[in-house]
Amino acid sequence: MLFDSHCHLDFPVFDHDRDQLLEKCYQAGIHHICLPATERKHWNRLQTMLGEHPSGVHLWGALGLHPYFLKSHQDDHLAELDTMIASHPEHIVAIGETGLDFVIDDPDQPRQKELLAAQILIAAHHGLPLILHVRKAHDQVASLLRKLKFREGGIVHAWSGSDQQAEAFFQLGFKLGIGGNLTYDRAKRLHRQVVNFPLEHFVLETDAPDMPPAGLTNRRNTPLTLIAVLEKMSALREQNSLVIARQLSDNTKDIFRLSR
Ligand SMILES: [Zn+2]
Repeated sequence: MLFDSHCHLDFPVFDHDRDQLLEKCYQAGIHHICLPATERKHWNRLQTMLGEHPSGVHLWGALGLHPYFLKSHQDDHLAELDTMIASHPEHIVAIGETGLDFVIDDPDQPRQKELLAAQILIAAHHGLPLILHVRKAHDQVASLLRKLKFREGGIVHAWSGSDQQAEAFFQLGFKLGIGGNLTYDRAKRLHRQVVNFPLEHFVLETDAPDMPPAGLTNRRNTPLTLIAVLEKMSALREQNSLVIARQLSDNTKDIFRLSR
């Protein structure tokens, strides 16, 4: 029983075969998928997809403003986020994805920090975890979480930080999202981290349609590649994949406050 903690299944690139894909996911043992939001204009589309799909796969969601789409976000969207979350929308399990991305062109760091801080406070106010997108800004995100005394935890998706930064996020109650990057030979630091840190610190993700694993480069990624990530982790840790699958699925459910 696998949980893809991060997949953009609402993107139009899945419109023509989403149902068939979900059937295959269920057959492959992927019974839960979380869909994080990117921009205000897509929140409604995302929400209409949530719940139990006819295939049997449970689709959960997060609402938030992704730092990569910085230019699309307006202050009104933060107020709307707070109002929407206050109405306890069904199947929404987190705020996200949000975070800091200092790799994008024209990153406008002060604006990114302002949007992140507002979303941290909304998550804290409603007792929800965060799904974080962080590129070249791990220390800044951790320090903002500490400054705002955020205690609800969450996931740092597509983990790419140092050991020290990982420890800082563990202290803050966060787990590390492990996806397609793990399958590349060049990802030496990540390979070492998934072996050295206890399993309780990880969750699985695909970030589909992005972040294709090795061998699928330049093609659409799907949640089915979760299996390849799991197998790679199993090989690196020399540990049974079923044991890893169960623990990481439980970790994801714990973070999202879902019953195991
Ligand atoms: Zn994402």
